[in-house]
Amino acid sequence: NSVFAHVVRAPEDPILGVTVAYNKDPSPIKLNLGVGAYRTEEGKPLVLNVVRKAEQILVNDSSRVKEYLPIVGLADFNKLSAKLIFGADSPAIQENRVTTVQCLSGTGSLRVGAEFLAKHYHQRTIYIPQPTWGNHPKIFAIGGLSVKTYSYYDPTTRGLNFQGLLDDLSSASSGAIVLLHACAHNPTGVDPTLEQWEQIRKLMRSRGLLPFFDSAYQGFASGSLDADAQSVRMFVADGGECLVAQSYAKNMGLYGERVGALSIVCKNADVASRVESQLKLVIRPMFSNPPIHGPSIVATILKDSNMYNEWTIELKAMADRIISMRHKLFEALRARGTPGDWSHIVKQIGMFTFTGLNSEQVVFMTKEYHIYMTSDGRISMAGLSTKTVPHLADAIHAAVT
Ligand code: PMP
Repeated sequence: NSVFAHVVRAPEDPILGVTVAYNKDPSPIKLNLGVGAYRTEEGKPLVLNVVRKAEQILVNDSSRVKEYLPIVGLADFNKLSAKLIFGADSPAIQENRVTTVQCLSGTGSLRVGAEFLAKHYHQRTIYIPQPTWGNHPKIFAIGGLSVKTYSYYDPTTRGLNFQGLLDDLSSASSGAIVLLHACAHNPTGVDPTLEQWEQIRKLMRSRGLLPFFDSAYQGFASGSLDADAQSVRMFVADGGECLVAQSYAKNMGLYGERVGALSIVCKNADVASRVESQLKLVIRPMFSNPPIHGPSIVATILKDSNMYNEWTIELKAMADRIISMRHKLFEALRARGTPGDWSHIVKQIGMFTFTGLNSEQVVFMTKEYHIYMTSDGRISMAGLSTKTVPHLADAIHAAVT
């Protein structure tokens, strides 16, 4: 008799569980639009050429060893990551008031940030958008914060509920933490305009709300690393404080290498160095120190101007392919005369389209067409190709008529 006999089976993760179901389906026409991972036109995972090149350089360098990194990770990687998100000429970096620590991709960076805030910030409440990436509430709750939501999405316009967002942030408890998706909001694909960001910034600063940016898609949304960092840079330019969790999963295709960073922008260098000393106390008992291979790839690319340029070209190609899938799907629905306004498919930004399909329609598409997606109707545009667009359009058409 097992001492674990009482353990009940947990449900599959709502996003990763889609892949589990997909893998079990023997149909040759099956299509996985659940998980947010880039695929080529041939439906294959992609390792960037520039990543292969960087790995070759690392392998050929016999002086490289596998010793532990410091608790905060690879110094070069941290500096270059801050430069990437805040901009090369960021005054906050020049004034040494940013601390950056290497963490386990975006998820680990959010988690370390949450634990730091739970220990050292005067407010334990974090407001997250409704809806948001399904892992957010769990990360923050387990990190010791109390999770509330603010309005974000308007299902009638399939766009931003800007007034609802402003109202909710206006009545949020003073000093509360607010999670913001830096760009390419997941799952809705709906981002504020720059004018709206400016209003959000003013409101948050006037109410002393602390911004915690989740930047999982820099460069992946528009194809431009700078354009996709605008929201973060607006908040840093006003001299106020904020946190940023960065992931290299999507924009460098380093998903399984778990490369990311947490930056905390502080008022001055002295605060930043004390904050860093406390971040070490969060990290040490959590994973001791981060892995070395992934951040070495990133640092090799970011510090060499030729490789950096090569990266931006490959990144733009991924972003452009996703955008072209939006247009192809939109056109395919139009050609079928599918009822409804589908313009949100081309308006939404980033990896996902929040289709507006309900959970019964999703079940129907899975059952009849072997198309897999999360039950909220979110599809990963990155999993689509010219060849599979007609099949998806047929399925959507049948689901809504
Ligand atoms: N935030 C958002 C909004 C995401 O979509 C993701 C990836 N799905 C992440 C964070 C974190 O991903 P990772 O831990 O793989 O970097």
